[in-house]
Formats: sequence, C-alpha cells, structure tokens
Amino acid sequence: MTTGQHQVVIIGSGPAGWTAALYTARANLKPIVFEGASPNLPGGQLMWTSEVENFPGFPHGIKGPEMMAKFKEQAERFGTVARQENIATVDLSKRPFTLVTESGETLTTDSLIIATGATAKLLGLPKEMELMSSGAGVSACATCDGAFYKGEELVVVGGGDSAMEEAGFLTRFASKVTLVHRRDTFRASRIMLERAQENPKIHFMTNQIPLEIVSERKKVGMFEKDWLTGLRVKHAITGEETVIPAGGLFVAIGHRPNTQLFTGLLDTDETGYLITEGRSTKTKIPGVFACGDAQDSYYRQAITAAGTGCMAAIDAERFLAGH
Ligand code: FAD
Ligand code: NDP
Repeated sequence: MTTGQHQVVIIGSGPAGWTAALYTARANLKPIVFEGASPNLPGGQLMWTSEVENFPGFPHGIKGPEMMAKFKEQAERFGTVARQENIATVDLSKRPFTLVTESGETLTTDSLIIATGATAKLLGLPKEMELMSSGAGVSACATCDGAFYKGEELVVVGGGDSAMEEAGFLTRFASKVTLVHRRDTFRASRIMLERAQENPKIHFMTNQIPLEIVSERKKVGMFEKDWLTGLRVKHAITGEETVIPAGGLFVAIGHRPNTQLFTGLLDTDETGYLITEGRSTKTKIPGVFACGDAQDSYYRQAITAAGTGCMAAIDAERFLAGH
C-alpha cells in the first residue's frame, strides 16, 4: 500500500536513503522509499562507479551497483516499500506533509527524510561517463579512487578548492599531477592554492579548455575495454591544442546538491546544501530531516551518507514517538 497516509517517507535511494529505510523499517515505521527515476538514478552516485574499496565490511571491495543492490535488499527485508519514481512537489506548510509523485499520485506523511544526494559536475565530454562508470581512468572523487593510480601521471581539472585538495591528495599516489584550469586566476582560497603551487609533484597548466578525452582499447585481465590515455586541451588565448598524457583524469569542478525541490521551503547554504540543526539531521521544519550528500558538502562519502541516514531515522523515530 503506497498511497494514502504514511509515518515516514524517504526521498532518495543512495547510501543515506537506504540506511534511513533500514532503521525506520526495523523500528516498524513502514517506510516508503522513492528511489528516483530518470534523470535521477535509483541507487544514487555509486551506480556510476566500478569498485568501492573504502566501505567497511567488504574487505575485497565491491562494485558500486552491487553494493547498492545489497543496501536495498537489506532495507526491503524489514518491510521497506520501494518505488522507482521521482517526487515532483512537496508541501511542508501543513501537517501531515503532502508529496506528489511525477505520475501525479498524492501521499501524505507525518515525517519526511530527504536523502536526495548531490551530483558531481562533469565536463560533458564524449566518453567521460562511459570511462567513469567502467572504472577506466575517469573519476570525480580522489578520496574514492586515488589509490587505484599508484605511480601514474594524473590530470586534475578545476580551479577551486576541490581541485587543489584533490591534486594534493593524489600526489600521495601519482608520480606527477597536472592541474588544468580554464583561466589564469583561481577561485581557490589563497592558502589552498599556495599549498598546491608549493607541491613539487603538481604542475599547473592554466588557460586550458578541456576538449577531448583520449583513450585506447586495452586488455586488462580478462577484459578488453577503452582506457583513458590522456586529455586534449586547447589554450584559451592561442588556440594551441595539446594532449596531456595521463593514466587518470579527476574532474574536480564542483558538485550540485539535488535540493531544488525544497527551494524556498527549507534553509540552504549559498550553494544549495540543506542546513540542519547542530549535530542532528533536523531541518527548520519539525518532522523534516535531511541526510547524506544533500546536507553534507564536506565529507561526501558513502559511509558518512549512511551514517547520517541512520541519524535521520533515529531523529524521525524520536519525533514520531513524541507526537
Ligand atoms: P546519492 O548517492 O547521491 O543518492 C541520491 C538519491 O536521491 C538517488 O537515488 C536519486 O535517484 C534520488 N533522488 C534525487 N532527487 C529525487 C527526487 N526528486 N525524487 C526521488 N528520488 C530522488 N564514496 C565512497 O565512500 N567510496 C567510493 O568509492 C565512492 N566512489 C564514488 C565514485 C563516483 C563516480 C561518485 C560520483 C561518487 C563516489 N563516492 C564514493 C561518493 C558517494 O557516492 C556519495 O557520497 C554517496 O553516494 C552519497 O549518498 P546519498 O545517499 O547522500 O546520495
Ligand atoms: P568551485 O565552484 O569553487 O570551483 C569550481 C572550479 O571548476 C572553478 O575553478 C571553475 O572554473 C571550474 N569549472 C567549472 N566548470 C568547468 C568546466 N565545465 N570546465 C572547466 N572548468 C570548470 O567548486 P569547488 O568544488 O572547488 O568548491 C566548492 C565549495 O567548497 C567552495 O566554497 C570551496 O571553498 C569549498 N571547498 C573547501 C575545501 C577546503 O577548504 N578544504 C575543499 C573543497 C571545497 P572558473 O573559476 O573559471 O569558474
């Protein structure tokens, strides 16, 4: 029964959403999870990655999509109802809260857990998504994938703090990191920029526009697939084109939280991340909780998203018990 009145509705099916579902289902709150549908991806960001090596409990790593299938299976085991649909509008002005799905179905709920995640911005170049999802040299997360590139020459694209931080982190593994930025002035804070400039392994290329992902077919183990071999860039002033040879490309041009649904209803920071109270997942509206990457612009990891998903479930459970 997915229409009518509910105790808990969870929007989002990444690590945060499924963890919130697991906990609220085990608390007998009969949660319903809206997993999302195109352009949102059921399973969230980890559906775009191959190997996840830093989620505890999987000593030999696990494929992102396989891990998300396990998250879902565990939440469903305790009675979570899952729906592959987007929530199109929400009305948080009166209780119970009202949600309308993209197909026009209306539901009401006493509490709402927002786990809509974030989207890493990409360059929009051909092959970028394909090589990222097959783990063949393109990544949007140095913390997640840096360790796969020991001894390689890497390229980081971006001119903000993320790019500086990722480039610095990657020098732990890489023989050389080329930081490519489309202008010659930087959005990054001075301290982060200077730290990167002082790092002997980081080589800066400014005024360079990424043009093409260069790849070639290679056989690795049993599989033959396209692997990144470099990034073609064009000088913004001279128009000169260069191919930067690289074993890995890290796109660090920012993230966009998926919180447009709540614009004007809930407080956000200047980039759209939902603001929660202190160490809790409470938003300014009692009964509405936010967790995962939609609320966390800093850690952005599967384990931290799962952790705040657990917190949101406990916050919702206590809210419902008190009402
Ligand atoms: P997400 O995973 O972003 O999920 C958001 C969910 O919300 C999706 O299911 C989407 O469909 C849904 N949604 C959005 N809007 C709506 C709507 N209106 N209606 C219904 N549903 C909606 N982290 C690690 O710890 N280890 C790694 O190895 C790792 N690798 C990564 C590789 C890549 C390529 C990327 C991009 C990220 C990686 N990360 C990794 C980061 C990790 O994926 C995120 O931190 C984590 O997925 C955040 O979880 P979340 O549940 O908050 O949101
Ligand atoms: P920013 O928006 O600050 O920077 C994005 C960078 O990517 C810009 O330099 C931008 O270029 C470049 N860019 C955007 N789109 C493209 C494109 N299509 N092609 C090429 N380049 C592109 O994002 P960040 O993720 O770096 O930072 C977000 C926030 O998080 C900031 O407030 C930052 O301070 C904070 N942060 C803080 C950290 C820390 O203090 N440790 C670490 C990481 C982030 P251009 O400048 O030309 O627009």
